[in-house]
Amino acid sequence: MTSHELSVALKRHILDEGFDAVGIAATGRLDRDTAALDAWLDAGHHATLEWMQRYRDTRADPTRLLPGCRSVAVVAMSYWPGEEEARTPPGHARVALYARGRDYHKVMGKRLKRVGAWLEAETGAATRTFVDTGPVLERGWAQRAGLGWIGKNANLLTRAMGSWLLLGELLTTAELDPDDGPHADHCGTCTACVEACPTDAIVADGVVDSRACISYWTIEHRGEVPEEKRAGNADWIFGCDICQRVCPWNETHAHPVDAERFERRDDLRGLDPLAILAMDEATFRATYSGTPLMRAKWEGMRRNACIVLGNRRDPAALELLHAAAREDPDPVVRSHAAWAIERISGASG
Ligand code: SF4
Ligand code: SF4
Repeated sequence: MTSHELSVALKRHILDEGFDAVGIAATGRLDRDTAALDAWLDAGHHATLEWMQRYRDTRADPTRLLPGCRSVAVVAMSYWPGEEEARTPPGHARVALYARGRDYHKVMGKRLKRVGAWLEAETGAATRTFVDTGPVLERGWAQRAGLGWIGKNANLLTRAMGSWLLLGELLTTAELDPDDGPHADHCGTCTACVEACPTDAIVADGVVDSRACISYWTIEHRGEVPEEKRAGNADWIFGCDICQRVCPWNETHAHPVDAERFERRDDLRGLDPLAILAMDEATFRATYSGTPLMRAKWEGMRRNACIVLGNRRDPAALELLHAAAREDPDPVVRSHAAWAIERISGASG
């Protein structure tokens, strides 16, 4: 097979696996993206995500991940559920749209591995696949592969599907035909995401400061959330995607996908913070195992529930919060419950 025929066959396999888009880039260094990441890290925008500091050299050079790597295929899968489904039911705390079903690492990882196995069998080339699971500059590769551009909200934006999508990469020693790239920027003069971010976390074009971002505080951060950050979480109990919801490209170019794709669940359209706070660990695991919520863990979700309840200032939550402040096994949950009680009682904030 010529490199062109192989590229066509590979793309067909990828689309047959249910991915929405694929682009191919020749390997090399992503100097601009590497410099941007270095600047982001040096400015401390990664907050406590110390692991981001590791593997800087590997990120810059895919041949460190796969010796002899010649090509990077980037795949994208949309998760936009449609306008109606994207609404949070009244009274529920908000959950980012990507988290409303089965963990995308599992859904996409399995499919991408199957594609890699096919390519290895077909060509004898080596492959490695990643779905947010290794030091790969995924948005940089996606842009170089012609899939889209990195928006001011730091998400990959495509003309075909907007930004409600998740990315994966297949690195291979096979020589493939690269697509035209890098993709041009089409944000233009728009600043909708910058203006809509409730916590001013978008500090420059394409630069999100985790220390101000609700997604960071509700998903990635472990332990106490500083008191001055808690009001910013508002009603978000897991993640935040306001900066995508306001993007005009999403308004006009996102297409709803089937609920089966990520096994979308009605009960994840929003969560009852009282139920989350009251849930024992075994029930939490039984209910949310296999979903992205597991990343925040049982204790993180109870902590987030306390913050939402404190922000709501609903006295109906006081009884449960008092019980949590006294008896919860986790000291972080106890202290956040005490904070919420004070806030509801009007003694603070
Ligand atoms: S995820 Fe939310 S908090 Fe973070 S940058 Fe986007 S709008 Fe701002
Ligand atoms: S909201 Fe506007 S500036 Fe932000 S990513 Fe979308 S197009 Fe770009």
